[in-house]
Amino acid sequence: MNILLIGSGGREHALAWKLAASPMLTRLYAAPGNPGIAREAELVALDIADHAAVAAFCKDKAIDLVVVGPEGPLVAGIGDDLRAAGIRVFGPSKAAAQLEGSKGFTKDLCARYGIPTAAYGRFDNAGDARAYVEKTGAPIVIKADGLAAGKGVTVAMTLDEALEAVDACFEGAFGGAGASVVVEEFMTGEEASFFCLCDGKTALPFGTAQDHKRVGDGDVGPNTGGMGAYSPAPVMTPELIEQTMREIIEPTMRGMAEMGASFSGVLFAGLMLTDQGPKLIEYNTRFGDPECQVLMMRLKEDLLVLLNAAADGQLSHVSARWRDEAALTVVMAARGYPGTPEKGSVISGIDRAEAAGAQVFHAGTAVSDGKIVANGGRVLNVTATGSDVSEAQQKAYAAVDGLDWPEGFCRRDIGWRAVEREQQ
Ligand code: ATP
Repeated sequence: MNILLIGSGGREHALAWKLAASPMLTRLYAAPGNPGIAREAELVALDIADHAAVAAFCKDKAIDLVVVGPEGPLVAGIGDDLRAAGIRVFGPSKAAAQLEGSKGFTKDLCARYGIPTAAYGRFDNAGDARAYVEKTGAPIVIKADGLAAGKGVTVAMTLDEALEAVDACFEGAFGGAGASVVVEEFMTGEEASFFCLCDGKTALPFGTAQDHKRVGDGDVGPNTGGMGAYSPAPVMTPELIEQTMREIIEPTMRGMAEMGASFSGVLFAGLMLTDQGPKLIEYNTRFGDPECQVLMMRLKEDLLVLLNAAADGQLSHVSARWRDEAALTVVMAARGYPGTPEKGSVISGIDRAEAAGAQVFHAGTAVSDGKIVANGGRVLNVTATGSDVSEAQQKAYAAVDGLDWPEGFCRRDIGWRAVEREQQ
């Protein structure tokens, strides 16, 4: 099969690495890709926003399946446009991608189908939102409705902070994404990520993970796209997975089908494990980055077989088996991240890090004068497996220490929750 993979992050490098191992693969193309993905795929300089150009490329190269990594193209409707051109796609339609593209859409779906989530109000003007906040009180959570690259959420511990966040949204801090605002009850509990592969009818559980959003050790400092992750999340017991499927995922699949927006692709549920059971924080309609990297390290199955089954509505005929090991990834970021990262510093020692037993996935890298250089905020994902999270952590950090990149940094405590549990 000929595959086109869309995206350029560590998530897509992990997908490319796994797809390249499939005996069913003939040729793998990636657009735009990155220097790590170039080890597995032929890079093509396509304008992803130009869906007609992507479709023309697919026809020209006899592409059998397009795999879409990031949410942006999905919310922009690349799935619909390619399918309309007769091209098979792994990823949701524009209507189904609203589960990620509009927080208000997802909250309304939850309300309609009795899916456990935080109580909420949905507002299109500052006055009403402020009144709701004042009535409810802090702590409270303010969310821009649309995609805001992880920056549109304010967990406000005081009323002033909450009112400021409401005003910022309506004053355009997040552009069109903040024209509508969701105000939510503050939930407490441990967070976990739960993934399913979906084909419109069937949702196949596809692993658990926990990530680390804050930039600093001990979960301090500003939010980031994710500084590391591990899988499985020990807190997600088989009972909790079963309950999440029954109370959250299955009603979502049913609701979307009833609304004429059947969901296919990756359904990624961000969960809060509260005293009353798992509650939905948010949906994403693609793999997490860096959660994908740890899932791909653990997956025993041929990924291409599974993605094909999802694209064809055949998921009820396949299963997903996992290595009996934990995987952990450490994100190496460029100095300055999550503010303005320094670009252009030379990274060496990647071979040494891999020789230490890790897989180094590239995210924001480029090649300059034949050398790998930093070209973004999150730059490398150093990923290792072990008999438990503690061992995977030791191996990942041993590999990190093999890198020679003084301008890069990472958190030193990725996996701390699971490691603490394992030591008890
Ligand atoms: P990302 O893109 O980073 O996944 P997002 O911007 O789409 O995130 P959410 O996942 O909805 O936003 O929220 C980000 C974080 O804010 C959550 O991981 C959680 O820690 C916190 N959060 C969100 N909603 C609530 C809530 N109702 N109660 C408590 N914390 C919350």
